[in-house]
This record gives sequence, structure tokens and C-alpha cells, in this order.
Amino acid sequence: MALNPIPDLLDALRASLAGLDDGRVAEYIPELAHADPTWFGLALATLDGHVYASGDADQPFTLQSVSKPFVYALALTDRGLDEVVQRVGLEPSGEAFNATRLEPGTGRPPNPMVNAGAILTASLVADGFPRVLAGLGAFAGRVLGVDERAYESEVETGDRNRAIAYLMRTAGSLQADAEQSVRRYFRQCAVQVTARDLAVMSATLANGGVNPVTGEPVVTRDVASHVLTVMATCGMYDFAGEWLLRVGLPAKSGVSGGIAAALPAQLGIGLFSPPLDDRGTSVRGIAACEELSARFGLHLMRPPARTASAVYLVENRDRVLVRGLQGDFGFAAAEALTRELAGQAVEGGLLVLDLDRVGQLHPVAAQLLGTLIERLTAYGMTAVVADGDRRGLLPQAHREFGALELALRWSESTPIRA
Ligand code: GLU
Repeated sequence: MALNPIPDLLDALRASLAGLDDGRVAEYIPELAHADPTWFGLALATLDGHVYASGDADQPFTLQSVSKPFVYALALTDRGLDEVVQRVGLEPSGEAFNATRLEPGTGRPPNPMVNAGAILTASLVADGFPRVLAGLGAFAGRVLGVDERAYESEVETGDRNRAIAYLMRTAGSLQADAEQSVRRYFRQCAVQVTARDLAVMSATLANGGVNPVTGEPVVTRDVASHVLTVMATCGMYDFAGEWLLRVGLPAKSGVSGGIAAALPAQLGIGLFSPPLDDRGTSVRGIAACEELSARFGLHLMRPPARTASAVYLVENRDRVLVRGLQGDFGFAAAEALTRELAGQAVEGGLLVLDLDRVGQLHPVAAQLLGTLIERLTAYGMTAVVADGDRRGLLPQAHREFGALELALRWSESTPIRA
């Protein structure tokens, strides 16, 4: 018997929604109409690179609009945020994915998640489609291919997207050739993936741009956070607001039935079920994300309460304060510690801080602790920082020891005088 309960939870969740048979498989791209409406795959990728897969998680399908955030990441990497924002807006349009409205005056598409913005974004990636395909593959952690039939099918029927491209040409916002830009966009939409791939791609964004399975840095932490932000505000088109309220995860849907969703610093989710609602989003995909978010407590605005204390060791002996720290230190954890220590300071005393078990020390945490140590030193305390990794983030003014034990022995053998 498998001991880990998570696969069973995912199977049960999927089974509970398999009977949901609302929605229709997309037909406006003829090749998509061949999808089996019963396909239903779900995958969850953790940031240490484990992937849970349930149902049809290895069934290939075309990325369609789920490609948009990942290609946006490549454009941001190649052009930088400022140039990309000058060309493609950042405001949720509240309109359908294929809306033709451009920003009055500038002709900018409203955001990179609607088709207009995605066609323009595709034209901004340097080195053309080979880079797009390689980049999408780096997000997924494997070499991806193009479903040529799906591509040809959209080339034959995608006149609305052509119309959007020509509109952007006349508005002056699309500088590249319209037909070429649209074809590049159709090609990225026709890249074949699985729900498992979508989970890993999302986890790469959640992991600050580093693919948690391959370890490859795909984009920078800044780019990953920019992309997640745009997914949160615009990823679900005219459903973005309600989606964020109900599910609370940055996500992107596509008309082949895929959904990629990410919980920053925690995990990536991939969903696949072809029947769509009126807005072009997978019906079972939405339901599964809602359920997952509720059952696993994944809503961005309801982060889990801090379970483990970031300070695992507190000892106050006479004039010696010992604090062992663990996990990641951001502002909140550093603020609590700084305030507590400032209140405990004793002139002529000793502070021992052990950072050996600290994972990430955010610059603001290093700055707060560093300044505190400087001030405690000026106040007449001695500070010892056991900093095995020599992260070098704290000022050099204090003494460094390799291990807490050493520091403790030092404090025991050194009588502290008033
Ligand atoms: N290739 C599709 C289109 O442009 C993608 C739309 C979507 O997935 O939302 O119509």
C-alpha cells in the first residue's frame, strides 16, 4: 500500500469531478474538436521537484493560450520590463480572449494574456520560434514538439487573430510583419504538452524561475514574479476577478482545456479537461482548481499561519541571549526577532545568534539584524553570529564562529562582568 496520502487525495478529487459534463470542446480551431471530452488529467509539482500525477496527466494536448505567460517571460528576458510594457499594457481588459479593442491613443494591446497582447509579445522574443520552443521546453524540463496539424488548422481558420494583428499594424503598435507574427503565435499555441508539463512549468514560475525538476534557471526571479502578477490580474480574461476571489492563484487557461496555476514559493498545478465554458475555460479545470485551493488551503490571500517558529532556540542565561534561527527570514520574521532582542538588550551582555539553519535571509532581514547588531554593540553588548555558510550578509563588526556549540562554549567559559 502506498503510504503517501496525497496521490489518493488527488485521485479522489478528480473522481468527484469526472461526472461534471457541462461545457463543450472548442471547435473553432477544427483540429481541437477531435479531443475526447472525458480526458481529465491533474498534476501537482512541488518546489523540490516531485510531481504528483492523476488521471490523464500524460495525455498530450496543445498549449494554446497557456503558452502566453511563458512566452511573455521570454520577451521580458530579451527586451526588459520597460520596453515590453511600452509595447503591451498591463491592465485587465475584462473582455474575451479574442477581443479587438486596443488602448486608445497608443494602440497598445491591453495586456499580454489576451490574443492581441500575445501576438505582439510573440513578435518581441529575440531569435524567433526556435527560442520560443526551447524556452517553453526549459520551463517544462523536456524537449517539446509542435502539433503540426493543430498549427495548420489554426493557420487556415485564424482570421480573427489576423484581423487583430492588422489592427495593431494600423495602430502602429505591431511593428513586425502581421502574418509572420500571427504564425509565430499560432505555432506557440500548437506546442504539445501534458498536464504534468503544465505543473512543472507553473512550478518553475512559483520557484522564482528555476525549474525545480531539472534545476535549470530558466528566467530570473524578477521575470517570474512579473509573469505571475500578470497571470493573477489578466490570466483568466473576463473571469480574472472572480477566479482570483474563488481560487486565489495566478493562472492561465487555454482553449484546448489546459490550465496552469501557481502558488508562489509553494507549488505548480497543471490541469487538462477539454470541455469549455462560454469564456473558453475548462469547466472541470476551474472546478478542480477551486476544490484544490479550498482543500489544500492554497488561496494567495489566505496564506497559512506561521506554523514553525523561525526562532527554534531561545535561551536567556544571566546576561547571555541565545537565539537559534531556522527557515527563511523575510520582513515579518526579522521584525519580530529584532523587536524582541531590542527589548531584551543588557549592557555588557552577550548575544549569540545561530544562522546555520537559515535558508534564505532576505536582504531586508540581513539589514535589520545587521543594524540591530551594530546598535547592540554600540550599546555595550558583544554579538556572536554562528554563520556556517559565511553568507557575509551581516556587518563584519561582530565575531564569527563556525557553529553554535563553539559560541555557547565561549559564552560559558567567558564570565561576563557587569
Ligand atoms: N490559439 C487560440 C486562439 O488564438 C488560443 C486561445 C485560447 O487558448 O484562449 O484563438
